[in-house]
Amino acid sequence: MDETRDANRPYDRRSALKIAAGAGASAALLGAAGPAVAQGAAATAAPAAPGATAPAERTGTPGWHRFTIGEARVTTVLDGLRPGEGPFPTFGADQSQEAMGALMKANFLPEDRFVNGFTPVLIETGDDLVLVDTGFGEGGAKNGLGRLVERMGAAGYAPSDVTVVVLTHFHGDHIQGLVAGGRPTFENARYVAGAREYEWWTSDEAKAGERKDGAALVEKLVVPLREKMTLVKEGDTVVPGLTALEAFGHSPGMMVFRLESGGKALWLTADTANHFVASLQKPDWQVRFDQDKAMASETRRKVFDRIAQEKAPFIGFHMPFPAVGFVEKMEDGGYRYVAASYQFDIDGDA
Ligand SMILES: [Zn+2]
Repeated sequence: MDETRDANRPYDRRSALKIAAGAGASAALLGAAGPAVAQGAAATAAPAAPGATAPAERTGTPGWHRFTIGEARVTTVLDGLRPGEGPFPTFGADQSQEAMGALMKANFLPEDRFVNGFTPVLIETGDDLVLVDTGFGEGGAKNGLGRLVERMGAAGYAPSDVTVVVLTHFHGDHIQGLVAGGRPTFENARYVAGAREYEWWTSDEAKAGERKDGAALVEKLVVPLREKMTLVKEGDTVVPGLTALEAFGHSPGMMVFRLESGGKALWLTADTANHFVASLQKPDWQVRFDQDKAMASETRRKVFDRIAQEKAPFIGFHMPFPAVGFVEKMEDGGYRYVAASYQFDIDGDA
C-alpha cells in the first residue's frame, strides 16, 4: 500500500489530535506536523546548549531517522552521544592496547577516543506504536543525553502516542527514560520485558551483589510498572510481527527482537554488539559491559550469524546513528558492519 510506504506520512493518532485542535492549533503542534519543519527546528535548537552538546552532534543531525520495513514504519531516535576514551579497555580488555589501536586505525577510527551513541526505536505496526528502550531520561540532560522525548516530538510523536514500551534489558541507558517528573513518561503504554531479566534484577543475588546500584534503579523505575508489564520468553509475540528472542550474556536476560512485515525482516539487536567495529569484527574480544563475557560472545555469534545469513538489516542500540545497517560474515569469523544508506528509499528492493 502506497500510503503506508510513505515515510513522511504523519502518525495517524497525531493527525487526529491536530484535527481535534482545529483552527486554534498551536504553533508547537503545527511544528510537529512535518519532518521538513521539524528537522529545521531541531537543527536550530541544538546550539542552545553549548558545552552540553557532544562534538559529534555538531553535524546538525535532526536526531531521528525514518524508513519502512514492509508495512511497518520505523523511526530511530538519537537519545544522545557520549564521547570518551577508548574503545580500549572497555572493549578488548583481554587484548593489548596496541591490538585495539591497530584495529581502529585499520577502520579509519581514532585509536584512543570513541563516541558511544544511544538509539531507542519507534515502530508503527498495525494499531500500535511500539517504543523499544527509553534512553537516559531527564537525568541525562546535563550531559546532552536524554533527548528521546524532544526528538520524538520533532519526528511527530507525543509520549502519549506510545502504546507499548519494550525494554530489551534493564541497564540504565535503556530504562531511565521510563519516568519523567516522577511520573511514567509514556502514560498510555503497556510494557514488555524479558522474564529472566526481570527475575534476575529483582533477585536477592542482584540486590546484594556488585550490581546492587543497578538493581536499585530497577526497583525504582521498573518494578512500579509490573502490573502493566508482560514478561516474555523465546519466541513470544510482542505485537503481530514483532517476536522476542533470547540473547543472554550482556545482561542475564537480554532479549532481541525480530520484526517481520510485508515479507521483510528487521532485527533489533539491543546491546548484543556495542561497538560497530570492535564488537562485530572481533566478537570474542571481551567487553566490560558484558556481565557473562563468554555467553555474550556466544550470543553475538548466534545472533549475527543469523542476521548475516538472512541478509536482513538490523538496528543496534549503540551502533553509529542512525544505527541501522547490515553485517557480512568475514573469513576470519568476524563480521563487517555495512551502514544502511538508500536501500529503504527504493520501492520493492532491499
Ligand atoms: Zn546499552
